[in-house]
Amino acid sequence: MASPTTDNKQKPAKRVAIVGAGISGCAAAYKLKLHGLNVTVFEADGRVGGKLRSVSQDGLIWDEGANTMTESDADVSSLIDDLGLRDKQQFPISQHKRYIVRDGKPVLIPSNPIALIRSSFLSTQSKLHILLEPFLWKKNISSDLAESVGGFFQRHFGKEVVEYLIDPVVAGTSGGDPESLSMRYAFPELWDLERRFGSIISGALQSRISSKGGKRSPSGNSKRRRGSFSFLGGMQTLTDALCKEIGPHGLNLHSKVLELSYNCDDKAFGNWSIYCAPDKNKQFQQSFDAVIMTAPLGNVKEMKITKTGSPFLLNFIPEVSYMPVSVIISTFKKENVKQPLEGFGVLVPAKEQENGLKTLGTLFSSMMFPDRASEDLYLYTTFVGGSRNKELAKASRDELKQIVSSDLRQLLGAEGEPKFLTHYYWSKAFPLYGHNYGSVIEAIEKMEKELPGYFYAGNHKGGLSVGKAISSGCKAAESVIAYLDSYSDEKLKDGCC
Ligand SMILES: Cc1cc2nc3c(=O)[nH]c(=O)nc-3n(C[C@H](O)[C@H](O)[C@H](O)COP(=O)(O)OP(=O)(O)OC[C@H]3O[C@@H](n4cnc5c(N)ncnc54)[C@H](O)[C@@H]3O)c2cc1C
Repeated sequence: MASPTTDNKQKPAKRVAIVGAGISGCAAAYKLKLHGLNVTVFEADGRVGGKLRSVSQDGLIWDEGANTMTESDADVSSLIDDLGLRDKQQFPISQHKRYIVRDGKPVLIPSNPIALIRSSFLSTQSKLHILLEPFLWKKNISSDLAESVGGFFQRHFGKEVVEYLIDPVVAGTSGGDPESLSMRYAFPELWDLERRFGSIISGALQSRISSKGGKRSPSGNSKRRRGSFSFLGGMQTLTDALCKEIGPHGLNLHSKVLELSYNCDDKAFGNWSIYCAPDKNKQFQQSFDAVIMTAPLGNVKEMKITKTGSPFLLNFIPEVSYMPVSVIISTFKKENVKQPLEGFGVLVPAKEQENGLKTLGTLFSSMMFPDRASEDLYLYTTFVGGSRNKELAKASRDELKQIVSSDLRQLLGAEGEPKFLTHYYWSKAFPLYGHNYGSVIEAIEKMEKELPGYFYAGNHKGGLSVGKAISSGCKAAESVIAYLDSYSDEKLKDGCC
């Protein structure tokens, strides 16, 4: 691993500040450090990882944030390779066995479109609707750029598909619901597919045919295992490995950034200054040539930014809605679970609240990864809240215990009280890619355009998943490198600003 070096013997390494030590900030820091830049990460919390949060306790291992990820982008593959984490990757047992509740009971979801048509999961009418989608899909009459996810899928596949496939999946992956999410921002690839081909089915088939033969895995290694995975010890193994590479000198914990100031003078470098809590009047002793901001936009809006002595007002940043979620970890003695299911987990459609279910879904954590609990126990990870049940997300531990026990009794025959239960409340688990999300993206672009050397990364742009956050951090690092290269050349020519 590279340590901060100098560009050459005369010039000191350029300095970059990164705000936030979630996965996007850590990935950006790692990439910049590999490039020989001097990196300082500021993290408000007392730990690294952000929404990656793994706990090992009394023979149990669980995740309170993200539980799995995919190798969705080439940046993810490179990162895992470079960190030497291939040996620690953990693939779930029977990961393709996933369930959705229907009429109060978990039903195995057919794992491909042909199996879906053959199964009895959907009504005959909906299956016909899917088969005939290339001919029956309806155009969006209003040509509404802000169309909801629900509206889009209803036009293509009908109401039942939205209620029993789309709703549970979006609730389980973003805490949102099909009506509040914007199709354009939540599923940009499918949105684009409609623009290009009209029908989703024929668009998907045509894109598949045209990419056939040339398609390789993101890392170029076609033998790579596909699907979701975690790491030995949980997802935080990834950010812990990054943290080790960044090194203790590059990391400031308990350092909530309150203020940033950009000053343009004739110094060769160092136009950015950072002010942190608890002593907000004290400037961090170093100055920086560039900044990567990865704090949630809601937090950025609370910061103070000055540009050459004048306030740079952030009132153009729109309000972002955040979905609250509680993650509840429970264990049950195996003998007390009468209908355990093998596989990844079960999702609960909103409609199934009519059958008394209150959770968003449950991961069968120790079924997927047997080392997460002792042999006599099942460990479950259950999610409560989201846009469907915002108030319930912040319920007390006892109330959540009752909700989880009741749902797991109904779905898996888990009898009695859990042997162990703990929970973690995320008041802002996911930003909602809602109908106004275009203005959020515009605000990010405005900051990047008007503040020289300021770049934004993280799950507020380009996708919510861990893979997308990594990719966003890596792209910001590349932009910083390009900026610093051009900036040095320009400074040499013109002086400043
Ligand atoms: C419960 C839950 C389950 C999830 N499950 C999955 C899953 O299974 N698979 C998947 O792919 N994704 C999942 N996700 C989504 C994914 O984990 C996140 O989108 C991703 O980790 C976000 O990374 P980030 O770096 O963008 O932001 P964060 O992880 O939010 O990092 C931002 C960091 O900035 C810090 N910060 C904030 N303000 C300041 C400040 N003023 N100064 C300094 N630091 C500051 C924060 O403390 C935080 O550490 C899940 C998320 C949650 C909450």
